[in-house]
Amino acid sequence: MVKVVEERCVGCSLCVPVCPEGAISCYGRAEVNENCSECLLCLDFCPVGALKENNEGEGHGKKTG
Ligand code: SF4
Ligand code: SF4
Repeated sequence: MVKVVEERCVGCSLCVPVCPEGAISCYGRAEVNENCSECLLCLDFCPVGALKENNEGEGHGKKTG
């Protein structure tokens, strides 16, 4: 899931319509909910770079076999 760097987000809402999953809401600050499919589209649209891929923990390993 993508996370919002709160101290960067200026609440412009530009990222909201970009998300194909409708996972972003913005009321003063953007928030990403669990519908996020990690397509990472929104990262390119945020003018201040407030959207980051959340690499905390593992969770990014590929399942094989
Ligand atoms: S990564 Fe994709 S699905 Fe997740 S919040 Fe951004 S645009 Fe939406
Ligand atoms: S585009 Fe960036 S600055 Fe604008 S609301 Fe979304 S996360 Fe915040």
